[in-house]
Amino acid sequence: MGRQPLWRRVDFLPRVTYFKPAGVPLAHLQEVRLPIEEAEAIRLKDIEGLEQKDCAQKMRVSRPTFARILLSARQKMADALLNGKAIRIEGGNYEMTVRRFRCGSGHEWEVPFEEMIKEPPELCPTCSTPDIMVLRPWSASRGRRLRGR
Ligand SMILES: [Zn+2]
Repeated sequence: MGRQPLWRRVDFLPRVTYFKPAGVPLAHLQEVRLPIEEAEAIRLKDIEGLEQKDCAQKMRVSRPTFARILLSARQKMADALLNGKAIRIEGGNYEMTVRRFRCGSGHEWEVPFEEMIKEPPELCPTCSTPDIMVLRPWSASRGRRLRGR
């Protein structure tokens, strides 16, 4: 194995990914980009209210790394909020969790969460039965690497 980018585990993709201040003409609008893993850091720490060590564990990074990601996210949000900039949430180095499905005939397959949002599966890809169920909604132990956009 050669060099690999550091993937941060992410359980959630925000549905709304663009925020724009009211009353700022487009020509004057500046934008800050918040990578997905920074949005996730904010979510875990500030919305879920987890301790930093637990956040770091969930994202599979060291505590100093988590602290750095969180600080960067907060600085960008403060910059956008106080300086009237738009926020675009996209990209970054992250690993999406997947949902695992099983059909009535026992076939199992995984669907990346990102894909789930766009097009939830309705049929088994192997036998085409609509009799399918989710096995593990938020897999903690399995993930599939999806490069951020
Ligand atoms: Zn099947």
